[in-house]
Amino acid sequence: MSEIQRLKVVDAFDLDDELRSILKPGEMVRDSQGRRHRLPRYFYEIPTHEAAMDTRLAPHFGLNEFVLVDLKEAPRLQQFPRYIPCAVRALAFYLEQFRSAAGASVHIAVNGAYRSPSHKLSSNATAHMWGTAADIYRIGPTILKTKEAIEKYNAIAEDVSEDITVLSYGHVLGANADDHVHIDLGYITLIPREISEDRMEQPQENRPRFAFEERRRRERRQPVEAGTVDKE
Ligand SMILES: [Zn+2]
Repeated sequence: MSEIQRLKVVDAFDLDDELRSILKPGEMVRDSQGRRHRLPRYFYEIPTHEAAMDTRLAPHFGLNEFVLVDLKEAPRLQQFPRYIPCAVRALAFYLEQFRSAAGASVHIAVNGAYRSPSHKLSSNATAHMWGTAADIYRIGPTILKTKEAIEKYNAIAEDVSEDITVLSYGHVLGANADDHVHIDLGYITLIPREISEDRMEQPQENRPRFAFEERRRRERRQPVEAGTVDKE
């Protein structure tokens, strides 16, 4: 874990407008059951491809494995510096336990770990948006596309910890998996110890929200037609 401490932790409210609109820190999203979850706010900033390759999150898992995406991810998030929620290190810890239990190397699919809320595969809230889920497509030599293989490794994953949930084998999108094992820790938000949480408000400058409030103030300054508004 010493290596990750070299990565900078950022409060996504401090990133530029484009990144904030992609990462949506602190925004609420609904899961498939309609429950609301608050998106993560604290991210590791990965400065370069080399840093992604050189940083290990767990003995057998490099940071680069958690940021493999294709063109379905927002273009800005395919360029360095890249951002990944800090809770990814919890995922790496559990994947390491899973790897030991499975007794073979564990391979994360492209788009199989962190997916931003702006990723084309992101509609409902899934733990992938928190960096706390991984889609495993291969374990050792076994490609996970049969019922037998997926059920075998689902059972191993569930035995590792009560904290892990999986998707049962089947063909219903979002409820099942038929070509991977989905390891899911739920909506873990990790607040790094470097962070002081006394800053509740996001900065106001250059925010669409500020413009909105300006507009409302302007509206309030408009003369009001007599008889249409209650006394304040
Ligand atoms: Zn998944």
